[in-house]
Amino acid sequence: MMRIVLLGPPGAGKGTQAIRLAERWGIPAISTGDIFRANVSGGTPLGEQAKRYMDAGELVPDEVTNAMVRNRLDDADTAAGFLLDGFPRNPEQAVELDAMLAELAVTLDAAIEITADADAVTERILKRAEIEGRADDREDVIRERLRVYAEKTAPLTAFYEGRGLLVRADGMGAIDDVTERIIAAVEGR
Ligand code: AMP
Repeated sequence: MMRIVLLGPPGAGKGTQAIRLAERWGIPAISTGDIFRANVSGGTPLGEQAKRYMDAGELVPDEVTNAMVRNRLDDADTAAGFLLDGFPRNPEQAVELDAMLAELAVTLDAAIEITADADAVTERILKRAEIEGRADDREDVIRERLRVYAEKTAPLTAFYEGRGLLVRADGMGAIDDVTERIIAAVEGR
């Protein structure tokens, strides 16, 4: 049973690692970015609300995001645990996550921070843009997403470190090596 949040700048490999770690621990990987993108493609009201923020590299408003996560955590498959990829993204969301978990009478086991330097992540995202064609993988939007990460999301590492939950792992190098590094760091605590 694992309840995990995954932190790290855009392009650090969170999505890739989230899928592998979730498989390892037999829990669902919940990516708020993926859920938003599916809603944008599906033309749902949620997608319509989120799209302009995503296209600009800004955070979707907390009311919208928090309600979406709250619904997802109510699904039966999270009883075995979960890995949140891309939530929380600011201190207000972290406080809201605490409230959701308290209602479910569960606690987090770890906050994993995947680290990567800014030049490397920009290069990775631009490479991904060629393959996936994400609307927000443009150099100007990438710069804004990195700025938002540094300003709003990075402070969460100190928040979770203060609770003794932070596990840092270097996100550079081969995908398999990074996965093994994270597993060793989390399971070896
Ligand atoms: P990601 O796939 O995690 O890089 O997320 C893509 C975009 O979705 C972000 O740039 C935001 O616009 C939006 N998004 C994803 N997660 C959140 C969140 N927790 N809070 C607000 N916006 C989010």
